Amino acid sequence: MNFSDFKFHPELYEGIEAMGFESPTPIQEQAIPAILEGRDIIGSAQTGTGKTAAFLLPVIQNIISSRKENQTRALVIVPTRELAIQIDQQMEGFSYFTSVSSIAVYGGGDGQLFAREKKALTEGTEVVICTPGRMIAHLNSSYVNFDGLNYLILDEADRMLDMGFFDDIMKIIQHLPKERQNLLFAATMPDKIRTLAKKVLRKPVEISIAISKPVEKVLQVAYVVYETQKLPLVTHLLKDRDMKSVIVFCSTKLSAKQLGRQLKKVGLLVQDIHSDLDQKSREDILLQFRNRKLNILVATDLLSRGIDIDNIELIINYDVPQEGEDYIHRIGRTARAESEGVAITLISEQEQGKFSRIETLLEKPVMKAMVPDEFGEAPEYNPGKYRGRGYGGQYKRKNYKGKKRQGYRK
Ligand code: AMP
Repeated sequence: MNFSDFKFHPELYEGIEAMGFESPTPIQEQAIPAILEGRDIIGSAQTGTGKTAAFLLPVIQNIISSRKENQTRALVIVPTRELAIQIDQQMEGFSYFTSVSSIAVYGGGDGQLFAREKKALTEGTEVVICTPGRMIAHLNSSYVNFDGLNYLILDEADRMLDMGFFDDIMKIIQHLPKERQNLLFAATMPDKIRTLAKKVLRKPVEISIAISKPVEKVLQVAYVVYETQKLPLVTHLLKDRDMKSVIVFCSTKLSAKQLGRQLKKVGLLVQDIHSDLDQKSREDILLQFRNRKLNILVATDLLSRGIDIDNIELIINYDVPQEGEDYIHRIGRTARAESEGVAITLISEQEQGKFSRIETLLEKPVMKAMVPDEFGEAPEYNPGKYRGRGYGGQYKRKNYKGKKRQGYRK
């Protein structure tokens, strides 16, 4: 699926492109069409799945389609100021070419900040992202007007309930029009979330993006390299050890074919396997691999799910997979049953943002190994540096000087 399937306004596409997003994540594929249809949503998804864009993009799209003067159209309630700021930054990136205005309203800060929030709320900033306590403080005065509001979004609702915000949320909701679309996201779905959902949502579409956790027994290691260092390093990793059973994963058929060819040249017992081969050839290759007549398979994600081959000693991710779920499936090929396994990932500069997203999903960083001196100097691991156009991450404002944006900014 592509973002173009959603038929967004061209200026919204510009923002998506500027953010470096190429294709929608699974939660975006499921949530965006349902939100565009006007349905309420209850989404089970954690940070790292792309849930923020899953609700911001359709909301921005609908705001552009039905502009109203000086009215707050969407209220996003979140548990912490950090999350409020983070969502507002994504909002800024996506809406940059659309002039949809937004503001993050959160606790702390000085009187000046409060006054600025007050002004923004009085003037009807279109998307307001707030923490509950701070919004209650504003609602206690009469300048907040949510009469034109169409969307209520509760993000990380489970955390908000854990932090004791139930009453505050319900109090805020009393200030909203009854006719509105409601979107609720939570990483877990305890009973109290179901209770909140019953009170707030109307016939919601349920979306669940279950993220499996990798088996603990897999030792995960990563090398941070330049793209040109990948081939010599992988050759070294494979030649130096007398491995009987290794799968090297590539993200495309082309790179699997090329790598298979290169590794054959250095005398390794290797075969590439991907969807260009017919079923019979693929089965023959797998049989040879099981019988140890082949030691190394260079595969696409075709092989990351479902197949059950015992005692794979090593998994190498030659390319960082597109999704966290693919990473977990790939490394799950090793350490099956009682055996222990190793998974090594090679991360190029352009892939650092993608890999840090996977680490967010794993909820822990993967150990970075030193690239041996013989391969020359390697880059640092600094995913923030590579975010921006084409790198699947945050947007660099300085690239877009000259385009004027309206509305409130911090
Ligand atoms: P979230 O789960 O919304 O916190 O998003 C986690 C990270 O993934 C953020 O840095 C987003 O910018 C990034 N992200 C979300 N959707 C996509 C996508 N379709 N393509 C690339 N990066 C994405």
